[in-house]
Amino acid sequence: MNGLPARRLLLVHAHPDDESINNGLTMAKYAAEGAHVALVTCTLGEEGEVIPPSLAHLAADRDDALGAHRTGELAAAMAELGVTDHRFLGGPGRFRDSGMMGLPQNSRPGSFWSADVDEAAAHLVEVIRELRPQVLVTYDPDGGYGHPDHIQAHRVAMRAAELAAEGAYRRDLGEPHRIGKVYWNRVPRSAVEEGFARLREAGEKVPFPGVASPEDVPGVVPDERITAEITADERFVAAKAAAMRAHATQIAVDGPFFALSNDLAQPLFAQEFYELVQGAPGAGPGGREHDLFAGVEA
Ligand SMILES: [Zn+2]
Repeated sequence: MNGLPARRLLLVHAHPDDESINNGLTMAKYAAEGAHVALVTCTLGEEGEVIPPSLAHLAADRDDALGAHRTGELAAAMAELGVTDHRFLGGPGRFRDSGMMGLPQNSRPGSFWSADVDEAAAHLVEVIRELRPQVLVTYDPDGGYGHPDHIQAHRVAMRAAELAAEGAYRRDLGEPHRIGKVYWNRVPRSAVEEGFARLREAGEKVPFPGVASPEDVPGVVPDERITAEITADERFVAAKAAAMRAHATQIAVDGPFFALSNDLAQPLFAQEFYELVQGAPGAGPGGREHDLFAGVEA
């Protein structure tokens, strides 16, 4: 219908780097299998902190040039994952990074947090109606960890999925399309505990000044909430690590560990986990799906 591959996956994220940390493995695997993998990033990540001292001048409180730089990092990360369709919601710079919760940047005109959800969602409806994905991946209502842009990305993605299916809504944005399955990014408690046990065992070999705590991992839930688990070949784990490394202003990767700007080591997960929140599960009762497209029609 749209000339695209039979299986189509859409991911909605807040900032460049979130996609590689949360879904790098999943994106690389499906892209290699020939599915259409599309990423919509809602902001350029202008308010992020900068890790390499040589690039510190890019920060919002200095040159305010981080957005353009992170656009390049995102492109490099997508090349590592084999993903060719990556876009910014409403075009690059349409919505600005809102900064951490409680900062004055939250309410600045143009910030994503201050955007009207329906107005922002209309941009995503257009993408959904163009690509007609069977599967949508985004955050839980808390955005995984309470960052305003992550919460807003959740709201916009869920609202757009609803509006895209409505026959009476904005036919100028394309023919209505109902997304078969909607997933939220999740991490099961047991995987977090196992990952941090690995960190403790590595002890002094961990190449970062400190160690994060399980509370620093977004989207952690009891294991029984997990409905899908994506495991992939070692080369896709390597692609995920390479994509994370491409976001050099935001992430430092070392072997099976990584750190954000707080310099605290976290485990790099070689599996990715999801909770199905809309659509019928493709696995048997109580079993986890191993394919996000399980049970959907091509
Ligand atoms: Zn983010």
